[in-house]
Amino acid sequence: MIAYIERFVHENEVESMPELDSGEEDGGGVLPLFKGLELQGTVDFDTAAGGKDFGDLQSSQPLAMIRPASSEDVARVIKLASRSPHLTVAAQGNRHSINGQAMAHQGLVIDMKSMETRIQVDPSGSHVDVSGGALWEEVLKRCVSDHGLAPRSWTDYLGLTVGGTLSNAGVSGQAFRYGPQTENVTELEVVTGNGDVLVCSPNQNSELFFSVLGGLGQFGIITRARILLQPAPDMVRWIRLVYSEFSDFTTDAEFLVSGGGGTSDSFDYVEGFAFVNSDDPVNGWPSAQLHPGHPFDPTHIPPSAGPVLYCLELALHYNNHHRRSAVDKRLERMVGVLRYCRGLRVESELSYVEFLLRVKRAEEEAKASGIWDAPHAWLNLFVSKAHIALFDAVVFKNILKHGIGGPMLLYPMLRSKWDNRKSVILPAEGEIFYLVGLLRFSFPYPKGLLSVDEMISQNQEIVEICKRKGIDFKLYLPHYGDSKEGWRQHFGNQWTRFQQRKASFDPRAILAPGLKIFSRNW
Ligand code: FAD
Repeated sequence: MIAYIERFVHENEVESMPELDSGEEDGGGVLPLFKGLELQGTVDFDTAAGGKDFGDLQSSQPLAMIRPASSEDVARVIKLASRSPHLTVAAQGNRHSINGQAMAHQGLVIDMKSMETRIQVDPSGSHVDVSGGALWEEVLKRCVSDHGLAPRSWTDYLGLTVGGTLSNAGVSGQAFRYGPQTENVTELEVVTGNGDVLVCSPNQNSELFFSVLGGLGQFGIITRARILLQPAPDMVRWIRLVYSEFSDFTTDAEFLVSGGGGTSDSFDYVEGFAFVNSDDPVNGWPSAQLHPGHPFDPTHIPPSAGPVLYCLELALHYNNHHRRSAVDKRLERMVGVLRYCRGLRVESELSYVEFLLRVKRAEEEAKASGIWDAPHAWLNLFVSKAHIALFDAVVFKNILKHGIGGPMLLYPMLRSKWDNRKSVILPAEGEIFYLVGLLRFSFPYPKGLLSVDEMISQNQEIVEICKRKGIDFKLYLPHYGDSKEGWRQHFGNQWTRFQQRKASFDPRAILAPGLKIFSRNW
């Protein structure tokens, strides 16, 4: 078997290897690699899907796509790769990465979604065991409909896999309260880069547990996660409040995530975004509406407003047995103290499941118009509170004052909700930092305003200007092209720890080659 592998991957670097015709039924001669491997799952040589992702900015040609039947299959594939000098392995979730993070050019991709979805709620109701390739929307539906329970921390969009978001962090408007999804997991089953199938938790194989969460897929493949549950509410009141002044927006957002000035009442979800102060249908006032029918009366915008406005997005949970008047009263008490532009408030009432699936509607519309399948040059950053006003001045009010053709997310989170033993990297200073998500959803030129290259350049300009101005920030869902120095700077004083973890759990650098942090070694 090794001889066959060598045929494809001997001394050559991966990039210079011959392109294989992987469309052929026998994989253009790759099939013998898998002889004797005794996989319970299947191997597919039509690898076109495995060479793409949501970003559509990069492509690759894997040798084969493995659809594992079990964790043992995953281990077999990693061990197979470990016996060659160059083969790499990438777990693929729902391929919603932007920059090829889940790709393995001339390597093996493991399609985690094809593993049987297991979603098993513990009889105590305290947690659910979920397979790594399960989609969060499947977890939601099963937990709520069968048990009236739900995980505590979500992403905005739930067409992502459990293993994919846990490898990054997984953030949304609940993170200020419960931390990211990585803080709401108590146990994992992981197949390491050594091919070991291990259960880990804060008390068992703890170094592996902390490494894998936020570990960018570098240390192991998550085959099962134990996720904390709580009773699911029936209903959600969803509110948007518009601000003209950045300082009012941040003061209120920070007040709400920090516990509302010590009051016991708190929103269940706090997010926000910036948008353009114009009637532009995509970037402007209509983007602050919850539904097309909601009025947005621009006469309420003060004359002092600049080119960009801000919107605080809040949600309050309640149950069917709560009296509507009591919910209204509670809400008025909480919203009444906020400094939004009076008259620029919209709200909606919907079921908890509808609320959590809110982005699904946007997905359907984007698919119908074609922008779901267009390239997505997205940029996500964590920016320290100390520099968020400067970021607003140089990025939102200047570079992006005409918008990006999609949401410009902006909301605060609390460092104390993130356990620094995990692998996620945050800005250096302060308790509060902001997520900035530039989610471009427009056609590239000639249909749209910018070409894909211009969108990428604009992202680079934003990163460069942040560096030049000394803004304390980190990339979320990071990527640094071929730059090892970029990664060293990203990890900063955590770089040594990250390297040591790699040396322990994936010493040959087999896993997640698409990030280009480490080179495969033998
Ligand atoms: P993939 O893109 O398939 O993989 C991502 C990385 O994880 C790769 O390195 C891969 O090798 C690794 N990986 C995948 N599965 C496993 C596994 N089982 N074990 C170990 N490693 C694995 N993020 C947020 O935090 N909040 C959001 O609200 C949010 N919304 C999004 C909305 C959209 C429309 C999109 C496209 C992305 C969004 N993201 C969000 C980003 C998303 O969390 C990441 O892109 C995530 O990696 C995607 O998950 P995936 O299952 O598609 O993973």
